[in-house]
Parts: sequence; structure tokens; C-alpha cells
Amino acid sequence: MQARQLNKTDSLALEQEIERLMEPGAEPFSLFMVDVGDTGKVFVKSGPAASRRILLNIAESLQAFCRAQDRLCRIGDDIFCILLPGVHQTGHIILAAEKIIRLQSDVVEKFDALLHSMVRIGIASFPQDGDDSAGLIHKAGIALDSARKTHSPYVSYSPALSQSMMDQWHLKEDLADAIADKALELHYQPKFDMVSRRPCGAEALLRWSSPKHGPVSPEIIVSLASEMGLMHDLTGFVFTTALLQAAEWPGIGKRMGLSVNLEATSLQQQETLNMITKIFSIWGNNERDLTVEITEGALVVDSDSNFERLRNLRAAGIGISIDDFGRGYSSLSYFRTIPATELKIDRSFVAKMLDSDRDFHLVEAIIWLAHRFGLTVVAEGVQKTAEIKLLTQMKCDAFQGFYFSKPLPHDDFCGWLARYRTPATIMS
Ligand code: C2E
Ligand code: CA
Ligand code: CA
Repeated sequence: MQARQLNKTDSLALEQEIERLMEPGAEPFSLFMVDVGDTGKVFVKSGPAASRRILLNIAESLQAFCRAQDRLCRIGDDIFCILLPGVHQTGHIILAAEKIIRLQSDVVEKFDALLHSMVRIGIASFPQDGDDSAGLIHKAGIALDSARKTHSPYVSYSPALSQSMMDQWHLKEDLADAIADKALELHYQPKFDMVSRRPCGAEALLRWSSPKHGPVSPEIIVSLASEMGLMHDLTGFVFTTALLQAAEWPGIGKRMGLSVNLEATSLQQQETLNMITKIFSIWGNNERDLTVEITEGALVVDSDSNFERLRNLRAAGIGISIDDFGRGYSSLSYFRTIPATELKIDRSFVAKMLDSDRDFHLVEAIIWLAHRFGLTVVAEGVQKTAEIKLLTQMKCDAFQGFYFSKPLPHDDFCGWLARYRTPATIMS
């Protein structure tokens, strides 16, 4: 029985099973499409035996959930489908989905070290979501996709999901054109030096206002470009544009740093890193120190080879900043080996620091430790005078946030920077 569930069923067999349940006079039912997480990672990390053991446990727990009339099959590496006759009302669907999630989290707990993933379920029901088998499978798939994207444990299909998927297809098409036509823009948010109280650099932030869809957030741009395999092109555009524009900044009598974000997965792409060093060697400017900002998430996976790649960037004269420090995976152990030059304290810490002693002490400790390892510390999301006061006491090296300026279009940023040409305009 277990072995049969582990063998993949082709989708045709699933369609036939659904058609049988759709015969005239049949009772309503639901199709639960369950994504049990990335067992492929376990396969790569711990071998086929471990991955098979986990899959067996997952299949067993799903089987334990099923009643005699339910049907369970596996249609993809990590995708199981369950047909549940009689389950079609919202309340029953919720109860069933939550039970599956509970059972699966027991499996995840058992294999804690190996399986970090979370189960996601897409649900489509007969007859309300359609009366053809292929359509029902497709709709459960759309619901599953939405569950993954919204980080929801389960999502039931609704026509709005189809609409939003259509919108996303159009958005992707338009974004691909915009990347090809270089129709995206960069805005610049200054960093302020704690001692001189003058600008010491700026971070380039991606902007795209689509004529059809309006402004699209940089996180969405980056995630869609990744899905379409366009990150390499996008990264090339961002680095080239940023270096060319930074060369036009008015001089303010001191060096200004240029910071550019690098998406976590791009760190794994040697080709992209080679491109960055090449762009830097062509367009880099002695007056502008280039720093690449990467989030901690990029560093926890495969850290040895990531550190090696970072060292190569450092060797090319590019600074490395650990972005959003404290937001996610913070591990103090990599302070010892990471070839970073800067650490940016996540704005959630800065925001809570005034009201919470714990956050205050954390920020203080992070700054102390980072300095011991020779890193410059930047506080992100600074919005209040009281925050600047505390951060100055803690010897934080630089500030960035709406208090000083929002990210500005390039021309506006140049105009803004020009005000600092004379040392007399020192911030009070
Ligand atoms: P990030 O690197 O942490 O960038 C800082 C974000 O915080 C920016 O949002 C900025 O507008 C916002 N911010 C700055 N100061 C304040 C403040 O005082 N208060 C508040 N509430 N927010 C503040 P933005 O521009 O929407 O960018 C979001 C994220 O998108 C960035 O987070 C970065 O991870 C990513 N991103 C932006 N541009 C690029 C890019 O060119 N490439 C890549 N790979 N990612 C980018
Ligand atoms: Ca950043
Ligand atoms: Ca950040």
C-alpha cells in the first residue's frame, strides 16, 4: 500500500478517477492538491534513503488522514492529491485542511534537521469549481500556487485567483519587455555619516511604474524576474545604470559610496558575479566605492562557496554589506569568516529600540560585535531624532531612513546632494 502511494500516478489516471466521481447523481467532492515541501533538497543533502524515508512517512500520515472512501495518490515529486467525496462545504474543507497540516507538521518535527518546509494545500471542489476533470485539477493547481505565493497553509480556488493569475501573466510579459527595453529606473536613498552629519553614500533602489499596472514594488519585480530567468539581465541593468549615474553625482568634497542590492540567488550564479566585476572594471570610478548589499538569507545556504564568491568580489575592490541584519537567520558564527565590510541593522530593530529594552540591548550588542570584526554599521529605517541620538551614543557609523530622505529619482537626488557642496550646510 505504501509503495503504491509512493509511485507517481500520471495525471491521466487522476483525471479518470475524478471522472468516475463526477458520474451523474454523484455526490459533491473536493480535490486537495498537497505540496509537502522540497524533498529534493533532502535527496541532494542526505541521499535517496533519507528522502525515501521522509516520503514514506508523509504518505503514511496522509493515508492515516484518509477515510475508506477517499483516494490518495502522488502526482509529482512533492505533490500528493486527495479526493474527498462529501467534503465540499467551507467548514468541512477547513477542518480537513487543518487536520492534514497538523499531521504533516508532526512529520516535519520528526525530521526536523532534514525537512524545513511547510505543507501547502490548493483546493478545488465539484461541482462549484467546474465539472470537467482536467479543469478541476488545473484549478486546484492555481489555488496551490496562490497558497505558495501568499505563504498560506491552504487556499480554496475562486475565480478571482484565475483573474489574478491572468493579471500576473500580463505583468510578467510587460516586465520582460521593460527589462529588455531598459525601461526601469533607479531611485537613490542617501546614507548619512554619524560623525560629519553629511551624506556618505546612497543605495540604489529599483523602480518600475508600468503604464498598465501602475507602480510595481521592487520585491515583486525581483521575484517575477527570477521566475522568468531574467535576474542576470536585470542585475546587469541595475549595476550599469547605478555606476553610470553615480559618476554624474555632484562632488561634495568627500568620497561617496554607492550601494547596490544583489538578490540572494544571484550569489550562486558565477556568471552574474563575473558580469558585476566586469561592469565595475569598465564603469567603476575612483570617487565611488561600490558596495553590494546581500541579505543574510543568501549566506546560510552553502556558506563555504558563497563566502569564496564574496571573497572574489572583495578582491575586485567591491565592498560587501550584510543587509537586513536581524530580520531572519542571524547567525553570529559567520562573523568570524564572512568577508563583509558593512552590516545594516534591519529597520524593525531600529523601530522597536525606543520602546523595548531588549531591542535596545540587541542593537547595542550588534554594533559592538560588528565593530570588533571591523565592520561599518549602518542603521536602516531611521525616522526619529530620538533614534539618531541613541544610535550616536552606540557609535553606529551611518544612518539611512526617511528622517533624512526618501529614495529620490536620480535628477532629484543630484539636486538634493548639491545642497551639501558647501560644508556650511551641516545637519543640526
Ligand atoms: P532594502 O534593501 O532593505 O531597501 C530598503 C527599503 O526600505 C526600501 O524599500 C526603502 O524605500 C525602505 N526604507 C528606507 N528608509 C525607510 C524608513 O525610514 N522607513 C520605512 N518604513 N522604509 C524605509 P524599497 O525601495 O521598496 O525596496 C524594498 C526591497 O526591494 C529592498 O529592501 C531590496 O531588498 C529590494 N530591492 C530594491 N531594489 C533592488 C535591486 O535593484 N535589486 C535587488 N535584487 N533588490 C532590490
Ligand atoms: Ca538594501
Ligand atoms: Ca535593508
